[in-house]
Amino acid sequence: MRATGIHLSFGDNHVLRGVDLDAPAGTTTAVIGPSGSGKSTLLRVLNRLIEPDRGDLSLDGESVLGTNPDAYRQRIGMVFQQFNLFPHMTVGDNVALALRKLRGMDKDRARDVARDQLDRVGLAHRVGARPSALSGGQQQRVAIARALAMEPELMLFDEATSALDPELVKGVLALMSDLASSGMTMVVVTHEMGFARSVADAVTFMDAGAVVETGTPQQLFGEPRTDRLRQFLSDVL
Ligand code: ATP
Ligand code: MG
Repeated sequence: MRATGIHLSFGDNHVLRGVDLDAPAGTTTAVIGPSGSGKSTLLRVLNRLIEPDRGDLSLDGESVLGTNPDAYRQRIGMVFQQFNLFPHMTVGDNVALALRKLRGMDKDRARDVARDQLDRVGLAHRVGARPSALSGGQQQRVAIARALAMEPELMLFDEATSALDPELVKGVLALMSDLASSGMTMVVVTHEMGFARSVADAVTFMDAGAVVETGTPQQLFGEPRTDRLRQFLSDVL
């Protein structure tokens, strides 16, 4: 996935100011930066939940703006801070729903695929439970399984662990780390600097709607070049 020169305003609030992001296939890119810097908005643009005012997006080398956003979105998995599971459905049905609705799978096939995906996140045994019977960390792993079931080319994570109790964060980060190792292409907005440092191939630091620095974790954490990044790291580390 590559974003080039992305500009976006909400009214007179110029939220993204020429953002470039290169997330090559098979790599994990962490996006860090202070609150309000535009990280979530950038992910929403990457997923085409919002169309940018200017700039270009390409996936697999092909420009995607102007194509059908619904078809595009089916190629991308997104995981939010809030898990957004349907409370009245079982865990298995939550995962199977999009397979049936968007992929046209029959009930039995969708159920099998859902079970396999739940197995992948260690939750096959909870297939018949309601989301409310699961811990926050388990619910987030279900949300990840639901996204993976669609066989996305790219996974976007927006603060996927921020709503979790501290003791539940580790399990979700471990799953994300496994996913990164498996060669999934990922863009991960995170406050977890340990994850950015040890799992990401590249780290992008945003401030005030712009990319201020981008590079390897060693470069950004070891040799920050700007005062803004140095200040941010001293605030969060
Ligand atoms: P945080 O770390 O707190 O999640 P962020 O880096 O994700 O912050 P964004 O949520 O992208 O920041 O917000 C960037 C700016 O865009 C903020 O000034 C915010 O008020 C504004 N903004 C975001 N979404 C909207 C919207 N739907 N309508 C109007 N303004 C918005
Ligand atoms: Mg955000």
